[in-house]
Amino acid sequence: MPESIDAILHISKQDRILSTNKNRLKTIPEKKKLLRIPVRKVELHLDKLKEKEEEIYGKIRERETLVNVENEKIKRSDEKMLAVKNQKEYVASQKEIDIAKKTIKKVEDQILELEGQKEELSQKLSSALEEYRQEKEAMTEKEQEVLKEEKVLLDIIEECNKNKNEVISKVDPEVFAEYEQLITRKVIPAAVAISSSNCMGCAMAIPAQLFNEIMRDSVGRCPHCSRLLFYKAPEKPAEDIKKKTKSKAKKK
Ligand SMILES: [Zn+2]
Repeated sequence: MPESIDAILHISKQDRILSTNKNRLKTIPEKKKLLRIPVRKVELHLDKLKEKEEEIYGKIRERETLVNVENEKIKRSDEKMLAVKNQKEYVASQKEIDIAKKTIKKVEDQILELEGQKEELSQKLSSALEEYRQEKEAMTEKEQEVLKEEKVLLDIIEECNKNKNEVISKVDPEVFAEYEQLITRKVIPAAVAISSSNCMGCAMAIPAQLFNEIMRDSVGRCPHCSRLLFYKAPEKPAEDIKKKTKSKAKKK
């Protein structure tokens, strides 16, 4: 087989590998994105818990301030009681103190309830944090695998391009132009070798006369898919090769 035909068939093979691996490479960003979903979910859950914790802290602070205010009131009423002039004033001050004490009792009960909620929440938070740590670890591990896969694909692509460039000058420019047109139309592989009257690209039968012409000229195009077809004499049947190796072995 002439060198130029060998070269274009070699390029065609490389382009086929390139096409497969470029398609695989296109799926990598989506794979990376999907890996982040479980972590993002836990992150959102954590954010909600933290928000709730902040809310409870706020409520507790509010109530603590209220207790201080009421204690101040009691202090003032106590002072007033030292200076009361009559029974009426005494009763009024006493009433103020009682109300303040009742309020403090109510608010302190609320604080206790909130402290309980806070405790429950902090347990939820620590288990969510643990879940986050695990998910992140799993993600990092899977990310490494995807990065490895990406590296392998990029290496194959680089290798194929190198292989192509090595033989490109050996191809007949006219044939190469036709070949490039097919590649642009995404007919891959664009050049195939045939040994029988069937296209090795689209698997359709090639009319007998055309096949004869391809055998004669070594090159032609498939009437169905337009692929470049190159005739390659069928390889010797396996039986013949066996016999040969046997006789060789006998000679030795
Ligand atoms: Zn075809």
